[in-house]
Amino acid sequence: MIEKNYTIPINEEFDKYDSCPVCRLHEKFERQSLEYIMGAAMMEPDVRIETNESGFCARHYRDMLSMRNRLSLALILETHLREIEKLFEEVSGGSKKQAQAAAHKLAGMADDCFLCRRIESTLEKYCSNIVYLWKAEPEFREKLLRQPKFCFAHAAALLKSGLEHLSSKQFASFAADIGSVAGKDLRVRSDEVSRFCKSFDYRYSGEDLGEAKQACEHAVEWLTGSTDT
Ligand SMILES: [Zn+2]
Ligand SMILES: [Zn+2]
Repeated sequence: MIEKNYTIPINEEFDKYDSCPVCRLHEKFERQSLEYIMGAAMMEPDVRIETNESGFCARHYRDMLSMRNRLSLALILETHLREIEKLFEEVSGGSKKQAQAAAHKLAGMADDCFLCRRIESTLEKYCSNIVYLWKAEPEFREKLLRQPKFCFAHAAALLKSGLEHLSSKQFASFAADIGSVAGKDLRVRSDEVSRFCKSFDYRYSGEDLGEAKQACEHAVEWLTGSTDT
């Protein structure tokens, strides 16, 4: 059974017909999550226990460092570091078994990020809701087909969700729709990269590259859905 709690924000973004709509849903939720973790979550002991144990990835620490609420970040770090300290004490001073368990936990912590996990699970729900809308509403299907772009990361996430939630016949048609939208940008990006590569050949030197000057940036942006480039 697909949860259908996100159909309103999804329709809002799909009505804009500007770039990848799932990127915007993703960015919006990421911003909200950052604000939440630096604000209201400070008062929620359950969340604090979780962030003490998971910590954050480099990218999200950087985001938190660039936000204004330094005390929130310091308080999050204070208890997270204390948690790590406790585990290091077990690694060096505990029994063999304790040391191993603590080392495992530390390795897991180093790879974990509270925000990445939260965002990934919400993105899965966005995708399954998009699949649901595509299946249930012919108007939404039209809307999806008229999107100017799906980045690779989100086209792949949508296909994965389609595999999980559609019959094989439905999936064939859904995949064709996703492919037709994602394919438009893929061709442009790949032509740009070829023109960029060719420009290093002396026979083509002096040719004006125009937009293709940024071919690598554009390709990475399309592949990752990231606007950080
Ligand atoms: Zn995207
Ligand atoms: Zn992260």
